[in-house]
Amino acid sequence: MAGRSSTQPLVEDPHELARDQRHLPERLVLWDETLRDGEQMPGVHFSPEEKLAIAEKLSEVGIPLLNAGIPVVSPEEAESVHRLAHAGLKAKVLAAARTVPGDVDAVIRSGVDHIAIFVAASQVHLRYKLQMTEEEVLAASVAQVRRAHEAGLHVAFVTEDTVRAPFPFVERLYRACREAGADRLVVSDTVGIMTPSTFRAFLREFRRRVEPTDWSVHCHNDFGMATANTLTALEEGVPAPHVCVNGLGERAGNTSLEEVVMSLEALYGYRTGVRTEALYELSRLVEELSGVPIPPNKALVGYNAFAHEAGIHSHGVLRHTLTYEPIQPERVGRHRLFVLGKHTGKAAVVEKLKERQLEATEPQLASLLARVKREAESRGKGASREFLARYHALFENPGLDEEEFFSWARELGVRPSRAPLPSPGVAGGAP
Ligand code: MN
Repeated sequence: MAGRSSTQPLVEDPHELARDQRHLPERLVLWDETLRDGEQMPGVHFSPEEKLAIAEKLSEVGIPLLNAGIPVVSPEEAESVHRLAHAGLKAKVLAAARTVPGDVDAVIRSGVDHIAIFVAASQVHLRYKLQMTEEEVLAASVAQVRRAHEAGLHVAFVTEDTVRAPFPFVERLYRACREAGADRLVVSDTVGIMTPSTFRAFLREFRRRVEPTDWSVHCHNDFGMATANTLTALEEGVPAPHVCVNGLGERAGNTSLEEVVMSLEALYGYRTGVRTEALYELSRLVEELSGVPIPPNKALVGYNAFAHEAGIHSHGVLRHTLTYEPIQPERVGRHRLFVLGKHTGKAAVVEKLKERQLEATEPQLASLLARVKREAESRGKGASREFLARYHALFENPGLDEEEFFSWARELGVRPSRAPLPSPGVAGGAP
């Protein structure tokens, strides 16, 4: 083609500019949290069969480590963990425990060979939640890490809210737990407040003070930065990041598994060992079993991630997909879609007709295009309004029915309290 030298690549790789600043881990261990933090999303519950189905799919896709849950939560949860531990999965199965002997024993009994022992680290958590001193937290952590280590488990030591904890305490706690036998150290941005630059600074300080050999990060998406922060950690050489399918998890969720995998594969050219073409199937399975719909504009797995309506875009993609698609949809097990609508252009109409081996004259094309636009603009919104009404009804109150809860209390003879009404039970910070 005129004006373009044949040696010039079609697109430049801007990632080359940052290559020297990245220190990606030599061996990646993606640690899936879908069945633990993912299940803690309000209203989500996986039965043992459902946990097994998701675990099998995760394992098949090539995720090497998955958290099955917390056995002390309920007898059903203990059964789930036990089943996953004995399912012969290729993935290693992990279960979680607080720094309490009963929790650790339940994990040992479940038959898994990996444990994550977690405790809070920030002052607000120690004072208001645990009501424990730093010394008490340290002693309980060391005792339970040692107990799990002596039982032959691979031990990950996790603190919640690590990034808001005083660094001298963080340093002392992690060093003590490593000496007690912790194999992997996990730091958490439990309330999702980090940004890539602050997280990088935090991780460097953590590395300087604690000198971890194997470590993980657990990020939340409260400000929409979970994936960016997790990639920052990977760039700092952290080998075992936590991820959740579809970004499920408490509040705004955790780091999206599919976003991290595809960023590494497609943007960094890093081999993750994941069968990326099965990611969409995995995502849809978790959508179905969690009951949490994938937002249409969700990266990679949302309906619109490879859909084009605008005339200029469709035209570009039809000429060469690199114009408006960063990757081929087939890489994640999907297909591209051209949507007929208000913004449709002539090229998309021509292409649509080709699907049925049709070819229109210019005047036919012009009227067909005009009709598509007219119809799209005059189309009623009844169907989507009805859908949204049902969606809101379902997700505004995702848990059990509260009236039913109070009827159970009445059945048990729960009496009105004679104490004066308490002040609201929530002590808040700055709005
Ligand atoms: Mn979490």
